[in-house]
Amino acid sequence: MNTVFNSTNNKRLYRSVLGLIFVAIVGYGFAQDPTANYPVYKGNDLGLTYAPQASIFKIWAPTAKAVRINLYKTDLGGVYDCSEQMKKATNGVWVVSIPQNLKDQYYTFQVLINNKWSDEIIDPYAKACGTNGVRAQIINLKETNPIGWEQDQSPNFSKGNKQTDAVIYELHIRDASIHANSGIKNKGKFTGLTELGTKNSSGKSTGLSHLKELGVTHIHLLPFYDYNSVDETKPNQYNWGYDPVNYNIPEGSYSTNPSDGKVRIKELKELVKTMHSNGLRIIMDVVYNHTALTANSNFNILAPDYYYRKRNDGTFSDASACGNETASDKVMFQQFMLESVLYWVKEYHIDGFRFDLMGIHDIETMNLIADTLRKIKPSVVLYGEGWTAGGSPLTEDKRAIKKNATELNGIAVFSDDMRDGIKGSVFNIDDRGFATGKLANSESVKFGIVAAGKHPQIDYTKVNYSKAPYTASPAGLINYADCHDNNILWDKIALSYKDATEIDRIKMHELAYAIVLTSQGTPFLTAGSEFLRTKNGVENSFDKGDLVNGINWDLKTRNASTYQYIQTLVKIRRAHPAFRMTSAKQIANHLRFHHNLPEGIIAYTLNGAPVGDSWKKIWVGFNGAQTSQTLSLPGGNWKIASISHKSSMKGNQLIIDGSTAVILYQ
Ligand code: CA
Repeated sequence: MNTVFNSTNNKRLYRSVLGLIFVAIVGYGFAQDPTANYPVYKGNDLGLTYAPQASIFKIWAPTAKAVRINLYKTDLGGVYDCSEQMKKATNGVWVVSIPQNLKDQYYTFQVLINNKWSDEIIDPYAKACGTNGVRAQIINLKETNPIGWEQDQSPNFSKGNKQTDAVIYELHIRDASIHANSGIKNKGKFTGLTELGTKNSSGKSTGLSHLKELGVTHIHLLPFYDYNSVDETKPNQYNWGYDPVNYNIPEGSYSTNPSDGKVRIKELKELVKTMHSNGLRIIMDVVYNHTALTANSNFNILAPDYYYRKRNDGTFSDASACGNETASDKVMFQQFMLESVLYWVKEYHIDGFRFDLMGIHDIETMNLIADTLRKIKPSVVLYGEGWTAGGSPLTEDKRAIKKNATELNGIAVFSDDMRDGIKGSVFNIDDRGFATGKLANSESVKFGIVAAGKHPQIDYTKVNYSKAPYTASPAGLINYADCHDNNILWDKIALSYKDATEIDRIKMHELAYAIVLTSQGTPFLTAGSEFLRTKNGVENSFDKGDLVNGINWDLKTRNASTYQYIQTLVKIRRAHPAFRMTSAKQIANHLRFHHNLPEGIIAYTLNGAPVGDSWKKIWVGFNGAQTSQTLSLPGGNWKIASISHKSSMKGNQLIIDGSTAVILYQ
């Protein structure tokens, strides 16, 4: 269409240009997020400061016109005994000092915003609460210390505080003890993991004694902060707990009395102390990436829209796939996360953190956390999921994702390349991996063996997901075959290889764990897989109850040989630094893959001597094929460290059985 530029058209053009500028300014305003300009408070005394003479309460609510605190004698029901107006201080903070001994009372906050008083909410900075985390509790934290707490020390696991010296074991508190045959009295509780000498029905150790016997270094406990999905007044509800309510309070359903806030704290400290005195460290699974509630969460009521990322249309963005995503890139939430992890380390002596959907957090915040934590606990172990569960307004270059792992200061990411390389995609039930006969996955497994770093013998074009190295050092990678998510390994093998015999499936399972436990990086086991735990094919068991999730400790007896095999692998790894090299350069120099091997064999030699190992050379071989194969070993006199099933060695000829691993040394 021809357009004649006359004065009318020019006016129209002028108006539409003005309109565009207006839209651009308004749009820009939204994109810029008006809450980003709120005054922020940098003090670390938000929440309660208790003393017998007076309790001081401080809360950040920058847009509130009034704030009040309500005091209760009980944790649930009833009406408040008194309600006090708080005073506006600087930087969006409201404060009140109540000159009485309020010990053991409960409190809530309410804010007046847009001429409307909000519902009562719990203080997000609360350190104690009653049942279901509805009301915060005023306590003297010193009263929660078990006897000997001041002497509690984390056991040594590494000479130089090297993360790669850790062997991590992932466990759900309730799963550990709830089964009838656990032999544990305090079933489903924090204190269940403080019982020593417990046994299954045939006298094999369970619970804490089992963990000691297995020889792992770190127990990664699934969420034990106060979460939403279990009603603490009901004894038989189940959830993994990835739906946070109170970040700085232990979960009430794991305590023997959720109503008295001191009990859960003391019982969790008992757990930590007992684990520590038995040589085990505790890693806490933290979920700062979203909150259980969204519009009605305490954070959002105190400072509407501030703590969450939003889309341009004003709706909550949802990179967690749980309804919202928090904004670690905002000062107050960054500071909240930092203070929270510091609190867990200082008050509970926690030894490490696993960050759920770490990709939702920004790199700067994660590095601030890592750097600050290492100053007070140099041995702290840090890792996270280097991905998101959905799109996020946080640009990819800022996200703490796998692709950006080299920018993270000593925070490892999980290797989904290795996980799925070993057993097949977790999203496709039928897919198999190297350990279940899909030999095309070899390069993904080799990539995991070198801890996803730069190695001259890896053909990155053949790696399943990542086409380039993404770790700067082996401390940057967590290698694993399974975890609480998706099918547990034993079920995945059965589902993806329906016609394999049980003996074949056992061999594949053991091969998978042999790969994980001999690889560079940090190995991660999920509870019960060391004795072929099943969840009966339930893929996402987060709320599927005890019948599916509770660990059947009699499997330890039934599958004793698998258990002994994995226990031996843990022992070999911990005794030999060659499996735990500390730099990508060391790995590139001292881990050599062998060529010209039969199809389905991955084999490599580690130079032990230069990395301080008592074994001069170590030969590791995996046969992903299901038939036995013969190969020639490199020169020298090899001794057997670990050989399974029908493998055997004659001179320099090794017959390696199908679906098995062999470890030799000189
Ligand atoms: Ca709870």
